[in-house]
Amino acid sequence: IHDIHIIGGGLAGSEAAWQLARRGLRVRLSEMRGSGERTPAHHTDCLAELVCSNSFRSDDSDKNAVGLLHDEMRRCGSLIMAAADKARVPAGSALAVDRDIFSAEVERAIGALPNLTIARERIDQLPEAGLTIVATGPLTATSLAESIAGATGADALAFFDAIAPIVHHDSIDMDIAWMASRWDKGSGPDGDGKDYINCPMDRDQYEAFHAGLLAGDKTQFREWEANTPYFDGCMPIEVMAERGVETLRFGPMKPVGLDNPRTGRWPYAVVQLRQDNALGTLWNMVGFQTKLKHAAQVELFRTIPGLQNAEFARLGGLHRNTFINSPMLLDRQLRLKSAPHVRFAGQITGCEGYVESAAVGLLAGMMTAAELSGREWAPPPRTTALGALLSHITGDAEAATYQPMNVNFGLFPPMGDVKKKVRKEAYTARGKADLAAWLASHAVGESPVLATAA
Ligand code: FAD
Repeated sequence: IHDIHIIGGGLAGSEAAWQLARRGLRVRLSEMRGSGERTPAHHTDCLAELVCSNSFRSDDSDKNAVGLLHDEMRRCGSLIMAAADKARVPAGSALAVDRDIFSAEVERAIGALPNLTIARERIDQLPEAGLTIVATGPLTATSLAESIAGATGADALAFFDAIAPIVHHDSIDMDIAWMASRWDKGSGPDGDGKDYINCPMDRDQYEAFHAGLLAGDKTQFREWEANTPYFDGCMPIEVMAERGVETLRFGPMKPVGLDNPRTGRWPYAVVQLRQDNALGTLWNMVGFQTKLKHAAQVELFRTIPGLQNAEFARLGGLHRNTFINSPMLLDRQLRLKSAPHVRFAGQITGCEGYVESAAVGLLAGMMTAAELSGREWAPPPRTTALGALLSHITGDAEAATYQPMNVNFGLFPPMGDVKKKVRKEAYTARGKADLAAWLASHAVGESPVLATAA
């Protein structure tokens, strides 16, 4: 007998289970590893296994968005952060962990909660009733993925991401780039047909850029990803470039219908950026999904006129990654609109990274606890890292171009005229103050009996 069923004992599922069980609720946590099943990336049967790097990235909560997220999660009683702090190894200002100590600590703390049952079983169907959190991650087992596709519609569930780089708007040089839609068609922010930011290239710049794409260092697919063919619209830009020097000029870099107001003519080639979030702070490079290594992307993409000082909120990539179109499918409480007894958490919601996945698990746990106790749930303010991430996933991101996202300051409401030099500190100071106020008024308390189990 349980109050809530959590499917998947990774970063998000373990955190959600902890948040619920320590509030006295009865939890069943189903994890397929340990039942003879494994994803292609996991190597152990431990809960919360880190499948690749041992880093939780920056721990600087004054200047870094993921550092702020660490701080907020600690203040919300996160198990993942407590285990990471116990397993910490030296890594400068980053938080890196001994992965075995980390997973063992998560498993120990969860195992100590009497109202939490860990079932080593694979779940193949979305439950038709009963509060459920699906936290099965980027490598969700096929049968369950099919069941999710049945509930969401196949088009709303992706098995690969195809991430084009995303640029902070305030780092684009608008003295070189300009706003326009092709042939002046389009809705435009003001209904004026100016939907895209356009970066112009002359012939020499284009040919050098094309050569750079061919020469740049690329990451390879993992063995278990390699046999998946590229699907429509997701071909890496360098693969398109391999087809011939003109291919991109007839594809994503097509200049026709785009008069450069500074010359009155179409440029030789163009790079277009499209708005990526409702705040208008983030813009994605249209058609630029790529397997170029990150350093190569930064070097090459800064040769694009207008992007010479670009700051990237995220760089491009292509990976096996099961995720749903959350902005379209989920309500503001991570519930499937068509089946509100089912919540999603972790990377399957389209957040990206260990910390973000655990953070969304933490939120799903808190929301479910509030729901079960009959309390109204108020989300953390958008000015906090938790609130910014949640808002992005559940509606602020553009559903039509939704791709996985790390936490970054571009997801936060802009700070107005705060000077660039001190802007990061301003974001984190505002977030910390607002989280404290939110916690004071809205947190759902721990069960006093179980709080000692940690
Ligand atoms: P997971 O941690 O994967 O947990 C999901 C769990 O659900 C797994 O334990 C799985 O066994 C279980 N499961 C799946 N299907 C079922 C089912 N039907 N029934 C029961 N259980 C099921 N992020 C980083 O920050 N740094 C990195 O270096 C990094 N490297 C990555 C490398 C790879 C190969 C991949 C795929 C992802 C990587 N990520 C990385 C991204 C991501 O942050 C991690 O995958 C993270 O573990 C996601 O957390 P999660 O809880 O959503 O999913």
